[in-house]
Amino acid sequence: MNSFEETDVSQAILEAYQAKFVEALRSDVIIVGAGPSGLVAAWRLAESGLRIVVLEKRLSPGGGIWGGSLGMNEVVVQKEALGILDEAGVRHQPSGRLFTADAMELASALCLKALHAGAVLLNLMMAEDVCVRSGRMTGIVANRSMLGESLPIDPIVFSARAAIDATGHEAVLANCLQRRGLLKEGLGRLPGEGPMDAPAGEQFVVDHVAELFPGLWTTGMSVCASQGGPRMGPIFGGMLMSGARVAEQSARVLPKAEEGSRPD
Ligand SMILES: Cc1cc2nc3c(=O)[nH]c(=O)nc-3n(C[C@H](O)[C@H](O)[C@H](O)COP(=O)(O)OP(=O)(O)OC[C@H]3O[C@@H](n4cnc5c(N)ncnc54)[C@H](O)[C@@H]3O)c2cc1C
Repeated sequence: MNSFEETDVSQAILEAYQAKFVEALRSDVIIVGAGPSGLVAAWRLAESGLRIVVLEKRLSPGGGIWGGSLGMNEVVVQKEALGILDEAGVRHQPSGRLFTADAMELASALCLKALHAGAVLLNLMMAEDVCVRSGRMTGIVANRSMLGESLPIDPIVFSARAAIDATGHEAVLANCLQRRGLLKEGLGRLPGEGPMDAPAGEQFVVDHVAELFPGLWTTGMSVCASQGGPRMGPIFGGMLMSGARVAEQSARVLPKAEEGSRPD
């Protein structure tokens, strides 16, 4: 029980984390943001055999799931999204025309599904910029959360065949391209979210999942923020379905790389 020294603990963490980090440097799809849409996308894409890395700037993955509404940790979903909850083993109860589930259970289950499917999740890792070569996304520039903001430290680069902006309201990757005039709208601000219309917003985040720029997909609230969809408040069916949709669409154009052609 006590046959170890404190430094053994540090060494174990460093060795295991280094192996994970090096593996994460090259992937098929890098997902920025571990909210509901990013985690479902990670789970589904990893399950399809692609190498998936998720970067999350906070300590805890889960994004907006944890807080429900006003910090009341229950999430609301529509019947169309129950299949995803069932597959993840998340229990739910009917509530009028909608359903509720425990926010803690949903966030934990989605993390576990993504990890067990093979996705690598790195927390405290903040995407700062994108790599673009020959008019296509080739990676993400990232730094440890807080480090990049407070000190002039050079970031690290993760390369990937495609990236997914799952950063929610911030639409971080879309904004990186927009401020350089690389999106088709040219220079200027992204449209941002429209006023609240929950049913329309929920449909919007699923229907408008798109490859915004060659190799860059959006999912979840970043779809609304980058394309002007209505906001919808604390209802999560659309986010889950948007994650499943982006996985389906991006996997279709990113067939599993042959072992020999993987960028190792
Ligand atoms: C503070 C707050 C405000 C909300 N406001 C609204 C609202 O106005 N309208 C609405 O419809 N719903 C709102 N919600 C409800 C709900 O949380 C979101 O609709 C839902 O969580 C969005 O899911 P998502 O997967 O798109 O992104 P989120 O759940 O927001 O997850 C995005 C994740 O990306 C991470 N991230 C962001 N930037 C970076 C980066 N640079 N690098 C790495 N990771 C990054 C975040 O830390 C977060 O974990 C809000 C939730 C919260 C917590």
